[in-house]
Amino acid sequence: MDPIAALEEIAFLLERDRASAFKSKAFRKAAGIIGDVPAAELAERVRDGRLKRTAGIGDTTFAVIADAVEGRVPAYLVALREKSGPVSGAASTGLRAKVRGDLHSHTDWSDGTTPISTMARAAELVGLDYLVISDHSPNLTIANGLSAERLLDQLDVLDRLNADGGIRLLSGIEVDILLDGSLDQSPEMLDRLDVVVASVHSKLRTESKELTERMLRAVRTPRTNVLGHCTGRLVEGSRGTRPQSTFDAEAVFAACAEHDVAVEINSRPERQDPPDDLIAIALEAGCRFSIDSDAHAPGHFAFLELGAARAEANGVPAERIVNTWPAEQLVEWAAQR
Ligand SMILES: [Zn+2]
Ligand SMILES: [Zn+2]
Repeated sequence: MDPIAALEEIAFLLERDRASAFKSKAFRKAAGIIGDVPAAELAERVRDGRLKRTAGIGDTTFAVIADAVEGRVPAYLVALREKSGPVSGAASTGLRAKVRGDLHSHTDWSDGTTPISTMARAAELVGLDYLVISDHSPNLTIANGLSAERLLDQLDVLDRLNADGGIRLLSGIEVDILLDGSLDQSPEMLDRLDVVVASVHSKLRTESKELTERMLRAVRTPRTNVLGHCTGRLVEGSRGTRPQSTFDAEAVFAACAEHDVAVEINSRPERQDPPDDLIAIALEAGCRFSIDSDAHAPGHFAFLELGAARAEANGVPAERIVNTWPAEQLVEWAAQR
């Protein structure tokens, strides 16, 4: 087995299982360390003990690499596959199989754990045709949100990666909806991006009328394409739980329908946002939807299965879901705003 593929699959499964990021990072780091070492040289280093003494290679990662080099599926991977189940990709059935892209993902430019290229490879692995890189905006300092300058640098990187081939990368942002409902990036900058996801990340407990006004202003702002995780609730997971925010869902979703802003079905197991009753209101209002992973690590693309299952269970038709469209159609739709 290819040792890099083994290390990356282990990392993917750990991320999907939401194990500590410390663990998955060790495997990704090891993959990076041996990335440029030719196979024969790597085998030599395993045999003569040099690899074991290499900084960044621990006992566990060494055992995985040694197993793979010696032609075995590493024991660690065998055990993890048994516990966690296989990496399923394009073979999925139902609505998930119709999802062609993901409009919401993070990289190590903000609070994601891996470089853009690693996220791109993983998105391809799960069968996507396109991926929007939507790192955080400046206001979210805790997540290392991107200044306009850094975002411009990121656009150059996306151009270079797209020129190299592989999955199509679209530019984007998860822009904070500020307290007054304005967006946390200049209109000129937002204009340069393919897709704009706007989300509330602060003062989630604001009383309903004020929060409704704040969200309405963001939805009406030209360039907003997707309303991200609209209630901000957390239903499980290591960050604990958080109740959903309260706002006038009829009014906000009516504005989404009027301005053709898609309501995000956030696939993260700890978010499951919006709740079922709000999906019903958005459906009734005539909204479009996007099923997004909100991935912060490659393994999180597997969450799309969960988001698609929720959309399906709530009777959201595929034609109302913008990321079932081909990239061209999606980009054209987003540009109309
Ligand atoms: Zn967010
Ligand atoms: Zn996000």
